[in-house]
Amino acid sequence: MSIAASERELHDLGVVRHDWTRAEVRSLFELPFPELIFRAQRIHRLHFDPTEVQMSTLISIKTGGCPEDCAYCPQSVHYDTGVKADKLMRIDAVIAEARAAKSAGASRFCMGAAWREPKDRDLGKVCEMVAGVKAIGLETCATLGMLTQNQARRLRAAGLDYYNHNLDTSPEYYGEIITTRTYQERLDTLGHVRNAGIHVCCGGIVGMGESAEDRIGMLATLANLPAHPESVPINMLVKVEGTPLAAGEAIDPIDFVRTIAVARITMPKSVVRLSAGREDMSEETQALCFIAGANSIFYGPKLLTTPNPGRDRDLRLMDKLGLVPMG
Ligand code: SF4
Repeated sequence: MSIAASERELHDLGVVRHDWTRAEVRSLFELPFPELIFRAQRIHRLHFDPTEVQMSTLISIKTGGCPEDCAYCPQSVHYDTGVKADKLMRIDAVIAEARAAKSAGASRFCMGAAWREPKDRDLGKVCEMVAGVKAIGLETCATLGMLTQNQARRLRAAGLDYYNHNLDTSPEYYGEIITTRTYQERLDTLGHVRNAGIHVCCGGIVGMGESAEDRIGMLATLANLPAHPESVPINMLVKVEGTPLAAGEAIDPIDFVRTIAVARITMPKSVVRLSAGREDMSEETQALCFIAGANSIFYGPKLLTTPNPGRDRDLRLMDKLGLVPMG
């Protein structure tokens, strides 16, 4: 591909494909920044209104005490981070949070539980939460760890619209980050979710000490799933004292924007979410991410246990940029 893409090449880039080679993804990462952003923006406009941003609110319905060892996570029992383990929230308290999120402008309500996988008796309560949140007119999303096919079906029957389960990083780097579940187990859960008719929310985290090649591998894996996730969260690591990744080097913001742009190009019809890490991101970096094709944010002052920009701050930024809530 020449550096400046022709109209035909841009059109072809906007077509949904599942056969991305790592060499192709690498060549996108290596484009001069203005060319990469131009292509991402053109493709974004083929499928989305570039002024619209989907807004989700995420709450922790069961915090801490997780037996998994994800090296970035303050909720793992393996690390001393000061996060206290709580029981599953009461159903009425979750519904009250959902009502507040809706009045504040969120269109989707995501419920996260720090579990390796849900026990069947807990899943019944989560299903009631899903049905209750759906009944007040919000889209529903959950992230509960690994699911069996039957559990995915139960969630769907309760009205679950989206299930989040991230691949986190490349298959090659994965073992450096998590040892208590395999990459294949993650792919299996994604398959169960997809088979149950639930939309898939799946992305990863950058800034965990991975190489540029790992970012390429992560996006190529996501883009080559049998169907692209409807929602692709790209997180910038939030370093939490006590976790193994607390002292690592931060990712360069321009590399982060490149990752967003390549996600947009390789998964043209997916909503790309600018997820964790915004609290420490400048307005300029966030603006570049929106130009590079990000069109979703987590909205609300907390992301599970880590801070997120307050609602006022986000609304001010959106106003400055002329962005409006999607839907
Ligand atoms: S990321 Fe999820 S599965 Fe991993 S330790 Fe944290 S709560 Fe557990």
